[in-house]
Amino acid sequence: MAWHRVEGVFGKDNMQTLAEKRVGVVGLGSGGGFVALSLAMSGVGSFVLLDDDIIEEGNIVRHVCDNRYVGQNKAVAVADLIKHRNAKAQVTVVEGRVENHQDALLGLDLLIVAVDGENAKYQINEMCLKHHLTALYAGVYERGEGGDVVVIRPYDGPCYACWSEELRGNAVITLDEATQKLDYGMIGEGGTLEGEPGLWIHVAKVASVQTDLALNELLRGTSVHEDMPSNTVILANNYIDIVEGQMNEPHTGLWVTIDRDPNCLVCGDKMRLTDESKNALSLDDLMSDGDMLIAEDDE
Ligand SMILES: [Zn+2]
Repeated sequence: MAWHRVEGVFGKDNMQTLAEKRVGVVGLGSGGGFVALSLAMSGVGSFVLLDDDIIEEGNIVRHVCDNRYVGQNKAVAVADLIKHRNAKAQVTVVEGRVENHQDALLGLDLLIVAVDGENAKYQINEMCLKHHLTALYAGVYERGEGGDVVVIRPYDGPCYACWSEELRGNAVITLDEATQKLDYGMIGEGGTLEGEPGLWIHVAKVASVQTDLALNELLRGTSVHEDMPSNTVILANNYIDIVEGQMNEPHTGLWVTIDRDPNCLVCGDKMRLTDESKNALSLDDLMSDGDMLIAEDDE
């Protein structure tokens, strides 16, 4: 039986649990491709893979897909790999950007966020809060020196915005008074952790931890679930200075707890109240003027 070695780890019932789980992976680059394929090889049964990018020559030395896939959409290509590893897996492919395909996130058990660029992560964060979807974010540091993985549970701990503000200190989030939309202006186009030079093995190590934590999250409530020390693990591939003045040795990790910021402009108490009062208003509006409300919601 092809799965007996995996079953030996999880047990038959938990394998069935994994087979029934539906996981979204946004971004099928070197990290996301590794996670999607590895989850399939661990018995996860259903996937939504989302990417708008194609595999180029320059990708194949750092990607689960080789040169046979050059020119194909990354989500399409990884879906093909999954089918060859786990024929029973159901894979839905979305060729496009997550902002335009929020519906694809409905009904997921877990989301893997493996996109380039912090701005995309912030948008995904807002969607996850809205849909109460737990997400795992990973980032690989410059030259693959290390990376981090965080589990974000909506309104239970930090959202990605307060987490990033605390850990990276690069997120200055403001509320645009005119549009009432969040402005992540300080991050800029260079605000990306992925796509940096670095070896495949170092990306794969971070992605491997992201996969492991994803499996643990999917098996929450079962006999094999383990409570992790905290919500964030920082991994060192080389000597890196994780906490100021404290050098971490190669191939070590450090667990840190990042708390929710009650004043966070995305998940903070004020925003929740605003959301609730918005909903209350919406109900009233719906009674008197449903058409206008629908038009507003579609924006
Ligand atoms: Zn927050």
